[in-house]
Amino acid sequence: MTNRTRTLDVVIVGAGAAGLGFGVTLRHLGIENFAILDRAAIGASFLRWPRQTRFITPSFASNQFGHLDLNAVCLETSPAYSIGVEHPTGVEYAAYLRGVAEHFELPVATGVDVLSVARRAPHNRFRLETSRGDVRARFVVWAGGEMQYPRTGGFHGADLCLHYSGVTSWNDLGGHERCIVGGAESGIDAAVALAAAGRRAVVFDRDEPWNRHGSDPSQLLSPFTRMRLNSAVDSGRVTLRGGRAVTGVRRNGNGYRLALEDGDVIDCAEKPILATGFVGSARIVRSLFDWHDEYSPLLTENDESTITRGLFLVGPQVRQGNLVFCFIYKFRQRFAVVANQIARRLRVSTEPLEWYRRHGMYLDDLSCCEDACAC
Ligand SMILES: Cc1cc2nc3c(=O)[nH]c(=O)nc-3n(C[C@H](O)[C@H](O)[C@H](O)COP(=O)(O)OP(=O)(O)OC[C@H]3O[C@@H](n4cnc5c(N)ncnc54)[C@H](O)[C@@H]3O)c2cc1C
Repeated sequence: MTNRTRTLDVVIVGAGAAGLGFGVTLRHLGIENFAILDRAAIGASFLRWPRQTRFITPSFASNQFGHLDLNAVCLETSPAYSIGVEHPTGVEYAAYLRGVAEHFELPVATGVDVLSVARRAPHNRFRLETSRGDVRARFVVWAGGEMQYPRTGGFHGADLCLHYSGVTSWNDLGGHERCIVGGAESGIDAAVALAAAGRRAVVFDRDEPWNRHGSDPSQLLSPFTRMRLNSAVDSGRVTLRGGRAVTGVRRNGNGYRLALEDGDVIDCAEKPILATGFVGSARIVRSLFDWHDEYSPLLTENDESTITRGLFLVGPQVRQGNLVFCFIYKFRQRFAVVANQIARRLRVSTEPLEWYRRHGMYLDDLSCCEDACAC
């Protein structure tokens, strides 16, 4: 791993889409003294997706005409080109990420779990406590993602349920019918996968995301999911139940009983599925950020912690005002914003970032992205 006595310029925590994409940006700037630490493997979260889950954002090799593949993490690469699939599975996408790491010779160390981060006087260097010893750095870029940090609370008995992120394959789950709590992307993904496996699914969501309209794709079901949902509902295997929240789950003989907010109860033979989202990995460094809410750290306009200078966030937890950078095509446009800050403080030329700007990979003017524009 890294030399204990040396101070790295930058440590990136996480070798997923965000960590690797940001690592490539450092490479393009000529910054060499950095490491990408991951507790598991390159693309580990994607490798843990349920086997049937596919990207909702489509991949298309359009680089020659100046448009980056929506799922590319860096310039001049394309998952559509390298794996030949429009909606990659997690395993396929992890293969693309390994290709990126190899091609750009990124300094990735796997099997290194970052346990805590602290900033130490007198030089204000960061000390990262890891499962393989301490590491020191001038800047820390947190790219730990969300998939490995499920949101399991929210109502009494939620711990009796199975979270979406704990499912390896929907085909392997037993039973004829499942109740699913949560009807956004992951809940509907679960329902259509169960329907495809010949099971039935009942989805509960008070807010009825399946009826939502608007322009921000982070708030809506993607067209890919909506199309799959329509045919699953037509097949009679998926039922959508909106308008009332699930307020509790308890055991009921060999099965489970869901309580709804109006006092109604629903009996389910099998363990209910929780599709209630994620809390995000940045909670490990919770005390180094001020927080907007449970999920979103407060960030400066450069995606730096508002209370710990030198600590930056990249990936789907990034939020600027009302703008949510939850998809790869959104959060990759902030890598250059963070890299620009680090390069300036390291006194490295930021000139290569002009190339990023020309190719829509440098989003520092957020006025383009008001709610009304479908950005
Ligand atoms: C089921 C699902 C489907 C999705 N579909 C899409 C889609 O179609 N299109 C899209 O754009 N986005 C999609 N997303 C959003 C997706 O999370 C992000 O796009 C992407 O995975 C985030 O990349 P990341 O690098 O931030 O996180 P991750 O890919 O989760 O990578 C984080 C890495 O950090 C490592 N790590 C975490 N904590 C530590 C630690 N303490 N120490 C060391 N290593 C650590 C993990 O092992 C992991 O490899 C989807 C998300 C989910 C969960």
